[in-house]
Amino acid sequence: MSTNTAIIVGAGIGGLTAAHALQRTGWQVRVYEQAPTIAPVGAAVGVAPNAVKALDHIGLGAALRERGVRQEGLEIRLRGGAHVGHLPGAGIEHRYGAPFYALHRAELHSLLMEGLDPDALHTGHRAETVSSGADKATVTLRTAQGTTSETADLVIAADGVGSPLRAALLPDYPGPTYAGYTVWRGTVPAERAEPLGVPHVLSETWGSGARFGVATIDAGQVYWFACESVPEHTNLDHDLGFLAARFQGWHDPIPGLLAATPEDTLIRHDVYYLRERLPAFVRGRVALLGDAAHAVTPDIGQGACLAIEDAVTLAAAIERSGIDAGLRTYDTLRRPRTERMARGSGRIGNVLQTRNPAAALVRNAVASAVPTSLLLRLAGSAFAWDPPFGDGGRESAELAR
Ligand SMILES: Cc1cc2nc3c(=O)[nH]c(=O)nc-3n(C[C@H](O)[C@H](O)[C@H](O)COP(=O)(O)OP(=O)(O)OC[C@H]3O[C@@H](n4cnc5c(N)ncnc54)[C@H](O)[C@@H]3O)c2cc1C
Repeated sequence: MSTNTAIIVGAGIGGLTAAHALQRTGWQVRVYEQAPTIAPVGAAVGVAPNAVKALDHIGLGAALRERGVRQEGLEIRLRGGAHVGHLPGAGIEHRYGAPFYALHRAELHSLLMEGLDPDALHTGHRAETVSSGADKATVTLRTAQGTTSETADLVIAADGVGSPLRAALLPDYPGPTYAGYTVWRGTVPAERAEPLGVPHVLSETWGSGARFGVATIDAGQVYWFACESVPEHTNLDHDLGFLAARFQGWHDPIPGLLAATPEDTLIRHDVYYLRERLPAFVRGRVALLGDAAHAVTPDIGQGACLAIEDAVTLAAAIERSGIDAGLRTYDTLRRPRTERMARGSGRIGNVLQTRNPAAALVRNAVASAVPTSLLLRLAGSAFAWDPPFGDGGRESAELAR
């Protein structure tokens, strides 16, 4: 039997996980990335129990545990420092079968790339269109040398929230929605972070129209993000100065982290997500995966985790049932969960980013009133996922019903 071939467009977390998952089931993969080199954008990423279990399923869990920092808890605070919600790390692990990790994106990327065939990755290739026949799909790619076409048994479009391939495949789809806020991310190196004594707890602090999140990551670094409700495409100069003024008077270590952040680690993006349902994740031999299929806002910390789930599910479904039936299973399994999360994330973001002081007071009071046991149960909508077709696989049980 000849080896199955896949083209994966996009070397983000979703595309690289898909490459790894397919390769380990015997596929020959080629990954095409538009960037000239792989330079992961985005400081750090939280890997929740659902994604840890997915990475375990494809043999990458041990590397994640070695390199990631296990979070001892997740907490919500107010700008003065009061705690309004706490999820203990041990409780998360006990209930959902895996801990919560955080690590630098560069570290996660290198972990995903290590097992890949070194000839599989082609940078400087921008995919422009895709088309599918009955048993092959073809991608047109632009490079510095001109345009080429590549054909394979399967094409995976993992080209992010702005996905050109989604637009080619589903031309009537309206595209991403602005979430109403912009987000800065920064990383503080170990020697500057150490005096601040930041605990291994992933925290998010709420104000009116602004939030600040902190996590300790690999190599003693500290990652933070700051959200501000602003109109789309707002031009803000002197970013770190703006942030120092905006978050002045917020609890420690927030001002200290901003003061200790090297300017060159700072990035800012307006946040977009896919509010509208996609009619399908699969067309012929092309599958959409990750943000290209269901971008969520960062409010639920699940975008990369869901992309990892997608990749593991896709490879497992195809291994089990063959390409066409496997793609149908992938579509059936993935759409309900990810659509729910995408729409829900936008709504959660609106509540968390409210600029209205009265609404912020209600938000804070409601969060304070929720007991830890209920918070843990609520987290289950994301964390209580298991890889399909295994013992107790939640989604495979749903499919069988
Ligand atoms: C502030 C912030 C914090 C976040 N924190 C978390 C978190 O803690 N946990 C979590 O799970 N998620 C988090 N997310 C979400 C997460 O970053 C994304 O969901 C995830 O990176 C999506 O991965 P992806 O591979 O689908 O897409 P991307 O990471 O966007 O990768 C797409 C890749 O495709 C390439 N590409 C695009 N177009 C083309 C083309 N035409 N041809 C070739 N290549 C192309 C791009 O260059 C890119 O490399 C956060 C997001 C933000 C904004």
